[in-house]
Amino acid sequence: MKFGLKQKIWITITIVAVIAVVFGTGLTYFLYEKFYVEKQKDMLVLQGNELKKFYHLAKSKVEFEQRIQWTDASSDASVIFTEDPMLLSAGIPYDEGDETNLITFEERQRLIKGKEVVFIREHPRFHQDILAVTVPLMEQGQLAGAVFLYMPLADIVEPFQPIRLVLLLTLALLVAMVLVAGLKTTNRLIQPLKEMETISNKMSNGDFSQRIKVHQSDEVGNLAVSFNVLAASLEAVEQKRREFLQNVSHELRTPLSYMRGYTEAILDGVTSKPETVKKYVGILHRETERMQRLVHDLLDLAQLEDDSYPMRQEVLPFAQLISDVVERFKLLARQKQMELVQELDDDIIVNGDGDRLEQVVSNLMDNAIRYTPEGKSIRILLSQEGVDAKLMIVDAGPGISQANLPKVIERFYRVDHARSRKEGGTGLGLAIVQQIVRKHQGQVQIDSEEGMGTTVTVTLPLFQG
Ligand code: ADP
Repeated sequence: MKFGLKQKIWITITIVAVIAVVFGTGLTYFLYEKFYVEKQKDMLVLQGNELKKFYHLAKSKVEFEQRIQWTDASSDASVIFTEDPMLLSAGIPYDEGDETNLITFEERQRLIKGKEVVFIREHPRFHQDILAVTVPLMEQGQLAGAVFLYMPLADIVEPFQPIRLVLLLTLALLVAMVLVAGLKTTNRLIQPLKEMETISNKMSNGDFSQRIKVHQSDEVGNLAVSFNVLAASLEAVEQKRREFLQNVSHELRTPLSYMRGYTEAILDGVTSKPETVKKYVGILHRETERMQRLVHDLLDLAQLEDDSYPMRQEVLPFAQLISDVVERFKLLARQKQMELVQELDDDIIVNGDGDRLEQVVSNLMDNAIRYTPEGKSIRILLSQEGVDAKLMIVDAGPGISQANLPKVIERFYRVDHARSRKEGGTGLGLAIVQQIVRKHQGQVQIDSEEGMGTTVTVTLPLFQG
């Protein structure tokens, strides 16, 4: 049989409660009874000694015997007086003619010496325990008689019967209370664990929306809080994953539908004019290129987002690297009648992955040229600021509104979707820049004012030789 946590705790509580209560009440009962018997014993000894005193004071035997009868009648104990020398020598008055003497040899010796004898023993004839006190009566150093006071033990413990009932009831009540309290506590403890089990089952089926209600601040409560945090972050990851898939499929859908439309047009013979066919094939080519770029960028970003993906560590003259990249954009800039102004501090050395840093500069230059209208200039500035190298790419384009500014770095976010697409953008350029710079312990900042232009600033730690 398999027990749950609840049953286990409950069984333990029950066992401990029953043991504790039984043992506790048993002990109380035992001690109380002992105490009571002890008191009865003292009383019998006292009465015996009173009688002994009176034995010497009494004017006559008759008077003494009257006193004995009176004591016998007025107390709970039976009182017997004997002077029978036979009985006395045999150890009176317990010898009932049986083979077994009620009194032992040592006790008899005590009596002869004039000392009282007290015992609790089973009476051979009545087969019940009796409490007995024997007081010897001495005359000129000789045992002349004895007073025997006794009572069955059952009579002594009798007043206990009602107490025993009360005790038993209290015991039952106590056990019941412990069990109810135990049950409540276990329920409170187990409830969040049960909830966790249900919710984690739901989580394994992809439902991350459930949370546990936390009422406690103990270990289980803390566990529940951690569990909720875990659920929240899993939900966020799941949400991101969904968004990402939506974005990717959305990005792929447009070029694919273009390609399908134009290939169908060619296949169906809608047009057979060689120049039109050529134009269509040109569009197909452009869309294929876009998809290729998109897939390449996505793969790149996925790698960069993986924390274990390594960056090369090279000592790089940063100004040289920048001017090499800018050189590649010169032709494009000339076509748009743009001037590329470089102010680069040649002494700056950084540590990092050369190809990846070229990618950063290239993506930023690409955006600056793409979004800046013809005839304007772009400035590329590299300076040292404290322990950092600071690269600024300043354009005089349309700028980005304050509302859009925090979002442009996100994947697939584009202020003007149609325009970005027309220009061949994937919406991943700035996200890639951000990842690379972060992996170089640097920062990217975008400042922009609508209508005034945009400045992208990249700070990287200087090489510490
Ligand atoms: P894209 O491939 O669309 O350029 P990016 O991630 O590089 O993707 O940029 C995201 C969006 O940020 C762009 O679509 C554009 O709207 C805006 N953006 C980026 N750079 C500039 C800039 N220099 N001037 C104005 N807008 C910019």
